Amino acid sequence: MEDIIKILIKEALNVRKNSYSPYSNYAVGASILADNKKIYVGTNIENASIGGTICAERSAITSACSDGVRLIKIIVIVGGKANCEKNEMDWAFPCGICRQFLNEFSDEETTVVVAKSTEEYKIFKLNELLPSAFGPNNLK
Ligand SMILES: [Zn+2]
Repeated sequence: MEDIIKILIKEALNVRKNSYSPYSNYAVGASILADNKKIYVGTNIENASIGGTICAERSAITSACSDGVRLIKIIVIVGGKANCEKNEMDWAFPCGICRQFLNEFSDEETTVVVAKSTEEYKIFKLNELLPSAFGPNNLK
C-alpha cells in the first residue's frame, strides 16, 4: 500500500503543476487508483464564472469515469498556494461536494490520502470523511 501511495502522491504533485487557478491562487492535484489498476489524474480548473470551477478530485474522477471506471480504490490529494515551496504545502482536504462525488464511485475500502509530500501524508477511509453518507444504495 505504501509504495502505491507514494506513486500516487508523485502523480498528484506532477499534475498539480497544470492547475488553472488564477482566482484563488490555490493549486491542487489529485490522482486515483481505480479498480482496473490504472491511474487517473486531475487538477483544479477555475472559471471566471466561479460556478464553473471544478476541483482536482472531481476532475480526476470524471477522467476515470469517462474511461469506464465505476470504483475508486485510492484517491490522493495535494494542494497549496500556487508556486509555494515544497515545505509550504497545505493539508488540502476534499471539499464537501468532492466527498459526495467520490462516494458515488466508492466502497467501504475506498481510501483518501491527503498529502503534503511523499513523506508526509494522512490516510482515511472515505466513510471517516463522509459519515452516514447518502449514496446509490439509498436509491436501490
Ligand atoms: Zn472539491
